[in-house]
Amino acid sequence: MKLAARVGQVTPSLTLAVDTKAKAMKAEGLSVCSFSVGEPDFPTPAHIVQAAQKALAEGKTKYGPAAGEPKLREAIAQKLQKENSLCYGTENVIVTNGGKHSLFNLFLATIEPGDDVIIPAPYWVSYPEMVKLAAGNPVIVKTTAKNGFKITPEQLRQAITPQTRLFVLNSPSNPTGMVYTPEEIRALADVIVEKDIYVVSDEIYEKLLYDGAEHFSIGAASPEIYDRTIVSSGFAKAYSMTGWRVGFLAGPADVIRACITIQGHSTSNVCTFAQYGAIAALEGSQEPVEAMRQAFAQRRQYMMDAVQAIPGLTFPRPDGAFYLFPSIQQTGLTSLEFSEALLTEYQVAVVPGIAFGADDCIRLSYATDMDTIKKGMELLDKFVRSRL
Ligand code: PLP
Repeated sequence: MKLAARVGQVTPSLTLAVDTKAKAMKAEGLSVCSFSVGEPDFPTPAHIVQAAQKALAEGKTKYGPAAGEPKLREAIAQKLQKENSLCYGTENVIVTNGGKHSLFNLFLATIEPGDDVIIPAPYWVSYPEMVKLAAGNPVIVKTTAKNGFKITPEQLRQAITPQTRLFVLNSPSNPTGMVYTPEEIRALADVIVEKDIYVVSDEIYEKLLYDGAEHFSIGAASPEIYDRTIVSSGFAKAYSMTGWRVGFLAGPADVIRACITIQGHSTSNVCTFAQYGAIAALEGSQEPVEAMRQAFAQRRQYMMDAVQAIPGLTFPRPDGAFYLFPSIQQTGLTSLEFSEALLTEYQVAVVPGIAFGADDCIRLSYATDMDTIKKGMELLDKFVRSRL
């Protein structure tokens, strides 16, 4: 069958491709150290699982409102008010099938064919592809390791044209782990307001911060930026709920209404009993979140020390998420050559930076156990030395 042209414009997810190859090698009986996945290796906290089990037992197994369970929308609005200083009501919130789906809804709801969407690189792998699927034009702005992989207000100003509709901000960042300071966020907000565009703020890693880093929601900077902000987030990373597929989008009521309409004709409601798990995640104890954060903090420190000791690899210190994004430039290899050789020769899986618009880097995820990290870093050291 002849496929639609829009499919041909989209690159299949490279992060998933590496993981698939690593899993195939594991299935063949090879011992693979994998640093490729972006998901916590902890089980979902027990009280969240129990809340979903209770909802199942109570028969919460039917269709629900396309916008999400009212109680969950209310809990999300409360969270945004309390933790992020964002004054939203339930009409400003939609529950989605994960953070990825939040962004997809938003791009479909707001982008006209030919509209520009500014995306700083390195970027999360799906942003440009989703913009293309919505018939928009991803405008990639390269940032540098010297600048901590952060877009500057000047770079943003220069990239804005009359076609610009949206700017995608992701802090803490996947793949770099960078966290913008409140001052840096305020400076970007000034440009967005001055140029009268919108910003989507992907805050899915907001709970994973280290060494005193602070998360600041751009919409809280002023009433003017609040009106131009849409927050995208989800439960996957903070609550180790990747498979549950629950996320949310919050912003101006007309944008949220448009997303509800799209959702009503595409996915309908998010799995009803999973939403009850999400309510428990927000309303229950936050101790498991902190315990996971502390474990990530230890692994991050170990991995940073180990990678720093490898000659030829350099990286700016990441303050959030669970990734390290070292430069491999000194090996002279492209990121795909590097990743493929490392996987084949040493059974270590990493993600090539080209997936994130940075072919001179690789992404290492430390969302895996300490033994794997120790062994994998030794192998990475051997591999890099063999290539210098
Ligand atoms: N945004 C970023 C920056 C991510 O890294 C991810 C997942 O890797 C998502 C959004 C999507 O998360 P979810 O699993 O909730 O769809």
